[in-house]
Amino acid sequence: MISKILIANRGEIALRVLRACKELGIATVAVHSTADADAMHVRLADESVCIGPPPSRDSYLNIHQIVAACEITGADAVHPGYGFLSENAKFADILEAHGITFIGPTAEHIRMMGDKITAKKTAVDLGIPVVPGSEGEVKPENALTIAREIGFPVLIKATAGGGGRGMKVAKTEAELDEAVSTARSEALAAFGNDAVYMEKYLGKPRHIEIQVVGDGEGNAIHLGERDCSLQRRHQKVWEEANSPALNVEQRMKIGQICADAMKKMKYRGAGTIEFLYENGEFYFIEMNTRLQVEHPITEAITGIDLVHEQIRVASGAGLSVSQEEIVFSGHAIECRINAEDPRTFVPSPGKITHFHAPGGLGVRVDSGVYAGYKIPPYYDSLIGKLIVHGRTRIECMMRLRRVLDEFVVDGVKTTLPLFQDLVSNQDIANGDYDIHWLENYLAGEKH
Ligand code: ADP
Repeated sequence: MISKILIANRGEIALRVLRACKELGIATVAVHSTADADAMHVRLADESVCIGPPPSRDSYLNIHQIVAACEITGADAVHPGYGFLSENAKFADILEAHGITFIGPTAEHIRMMGDKITAKKTAVDLGIPVVPGSEGEVKPENALTIAREIGFPVLIKATAGGGGRGMKVAKTEAELDEAVSTARSEALAAFGNDAVYMEKYLGKPRHIEIQVVGDGEGNAIHLGERDCSLQRRHQKVWEEANSPALNVEQRMKIGQICADAMKKMKYRGAGTIEFLYENGEFYFIEMNTRLQVEHPITEAITGIDLVHEQIRVASGAGLSVSQEEIVFSGHAIECRINAEDPRTFVPSPGKITHFHAPGGLGVRVDSGVYAGYKIPPYYDSLIGKLIVHGRTRIECMMRLRRVLDEFVVDGVKTTLPLFQDLVSNQDIANGDYDIHWLENYLAGEKH
């Protein structure tokens, strides 16, 4: 049994995990940098430990300090949230060596999915459909042969990739050399590793991902999909469950493929299998071996608390539901509220002077900020997530429109005005968008 959890994160996700611990009667330890001493997760935790100065590498990424905080407080498990150390296999290994439970998958599974080439090979072995592409790493001298086999346009991607960096499109043979060398140098700069691979470039796909949870013993479930096609610079902005593009049969079919794969792997914990979806076909792009930012929309349509499930399976208590017991109900949308200029997305740190979160039926706000809170400039600019649920997509959109009008955040710029525009847009109302839609819209090419 787990009796005390240290939450190795900050912001809304630290608060989210803390809430689940409280509901399960588990004691909590918050860790924080000196910049976060006044943060909500620190105030609400049973205990807190300062783990270093503001830069993440000295605090939230400082494994020694976090392990020391576990030992000082007697925490017997760590929840990593998302980002920071959540997909760091070395961290999982070190915790295990100290007899502390890592609330997540095994270090081996984190490593397997962290390397994109291994992840893709594993996906093929597990029966998950993948994007046609190179078998492994592509060297500049082999690039043309491989690209011709795949067929143009092709995408060059960093093996160690993340956040859309080290990715370049070559539309024609003439563009290939340049694309390969730019991708390699970007990959080297971002990840210290210049290895790249190649995929068929899909023109107008949607981004659809499947939520899975496994118990590590060979049981696993899927909780349907999320459509995260509305992105800017490969970052998700607005997410929906279910996808406006899928019907029940398609959902259950791809969901079952993913759940079966997790059973074969004996996967433990929550995970997300990400696909591009075009012309009725799914193409695996990667698996995230952690909780995702957008998990609340899945919780809204299933009523299942994913952090409860993570803690249950980490403590060996198994899943709380079987696949047959899961009921998908209604529609949910999440808007990521960032402290950023709504058109340029330039971060806008500073002091929040007024804060009023909306309420009412079907409304959830996950946020760690309050009036008087000063957003530090050191971390990401997410200040909250607005999650709205309705019985139908139309009801959900109507509710979202009402709720956005109620939301007040003064003192800093936020992305709220962007969502007010999107909720009134005809393409969005029709569910008619792909992964390029938002960038085109922001460039003034869509109205
Ligand atoms: P990262 O780990 O860097 O985020 P992903 O493989 O998850 O990389 O891809 C990020 C995004 O890049 C996808 O959501 C999609 O928008 C785009 N993308 C990735 N692979 C392809 C592809 N083969 N064709 C077209 N777009 C792609």
